[in-house]
Amino acid sequence: MSYVDEVLERVIAQNPAQPEFHQAVKEVLDSLRPVIEEHEADYRREALLERLTTPERQILFRVPWVDDKGQVQVNNGYRVQFNSAIGPYKGGLRFHPSVNLSIIKFLGFEQIFKNSLTGLPIGGGKGGADFNPKGKSDREVMAFCQSFMQELYRHIGAFVDVPAGDIGVGGREIGYLYGEYKKITGLYEGVLTGKGLTYGGSLARTQATGYGLVYFAEEMLKANGIDLKDKTVAISGAGNVATYAIEKAEQLGAHVVTCTDSTGWIYDPDGIDVATLKDVKEVKRARLTEYKAARPNAIYHEGKGVWTTKCDVAMPCATQNELVLDDAKTLKSNGCIAVCEGANMPTTLEATQFIQSNGMFFTPGKASNAGGVATSALEMTQNSERLSWTFDEVDSKLQNIMVGLFRNVDSAAKKYGMEGNYVAGANIAGFLKVADAMKAQGIV
Ligand code: NDP
Repeated sequence: MSYVDEVLERVIAQNPAQPEFHQAVKEVLDSLRPVIEEHEADYRREALLERLTTPERQILFRVPWVDDKGQVQVNNGYRVQFNSAIGPYKGGLRFHPSVNLSIIKFLGFEQIFKNSLTGLPIGGGKGGADFNPKGKSDREVMAFCQSFMQELYRHIGAFVDVPAGDIGVGGREIGYLYGEYKKITGLYEGVLTGKGLTYGGSLARTQATGYGLVYFAEEMLKANGIDLKDKTVAISGAGNVATYAIEKAEQLGAHVVTCTDSTGWIYDPDGIDVATLKDVKEVKRARLTEYKAARPNAIYHEGKGVWTTKCDVAMPCATQNELVLDDAKTLKSNGCIAVCEGANMPTTLEATQFIQSNGMFFTPGKASNAGGVATSALEMTQNSERLSWTFDEVDSKLQNIMVGLFRNVDSAAKKYGMEGNYVAGANIAGFLKVADAMKAQGIV
């Protein structure tokens, strides 16, 4: 049996009932086969893949807090510190009822390669809780965040592990988490990113993942002789990534016609109006039915179905496994030429394989959504320097990082005879740097 297959079997046996984690490991290791075969004896002797697929540390903890009725609630908290070969652990915190160890491990594993790809010195980690901030009062969210940090603080630090936001963790939650960290430790340090601008946050961090996705997609299309301008784009999600992907795509002349939330989706033939979307989602925290109310030409559909929209480019920006095989087939038959992931693993393995083998371009989230974490690393740099850069400085660094990242991915795919396979390119480029650092640091 090949080394990759042995490790895949081992991962499944040692991590039962963790399908998302299995999926992420399989996707990465499958695409690394040519590289691993080249160094098989070496890697096997050093158990490099076993070490890579086993988190350095997994922290599971109880998060008790009191709701507005005086009732004590208990949630599960997680921080998985996956790999610190190239820098302190870095990755977001997700607060969502679906959070479990499998999801946190899949996200943490993917984060290793994504962070490596940015070219910046950051390792991989991820955390969160099965807490649902929706429908909670500010006081309840604060109570939860404070309790969460009362355990987490002992495991993180500006040079140890630097969490950020993710689904359900935005500026409000980061603020409460940071305040509690500061109160417990007395340290005013860059221990979290995505902070508010008045206390160490970076300009352009809010926009970074969505803008970065569009910079990456534009560069990928350009390398294949296609202009993003005037293309029709379907985007899912109505959160941080989706909103700023829509904003940047429209600034660059594309026509974005959809967005979605967890209950339905919008088709707006006049192009999604970002100001209305921000008002509905960022200010009112309401459903997309409110968008329809403000834009009479738009059509609101209950439930799923966004990928039935005729488009040139699809950008899934909501959540994992939201674009399945049937969606990929529909996109193809409607003439779509590219799927660029904004969310983490939004496309199922079967859908990805269909897209890649049917002449469409596919960019994996670990490459195309790396702008967020790259800008988080720029926030860490600014915190260390005690300086704040302007929006344009950060945005232009972000643009350079995304263009460089695409070239890195593209040339790794070409080097191993898989031109145009950006999944393989991203995994290979991300992996080689981490593997090299792990080998250099010995068996730790
Ligand atoms: P947000 O919470 O801001 O937005 C998520 C959006 O997706 C919301 O519109 C939400 O709907 C919808 N959504 C969430 N879960 C589901 C579900 N199970 N089914 C259908 N719709 C769902 O998150 P972000 O925009 O920050 O993150 C989106 C994705 O991008 C995630 O995969 C995240 O891991 C990834 N990502 C985020 C980065 C960042 O910087 N924010 C960086 C890199 C990756 P509703 O409005 O109803 O809540």
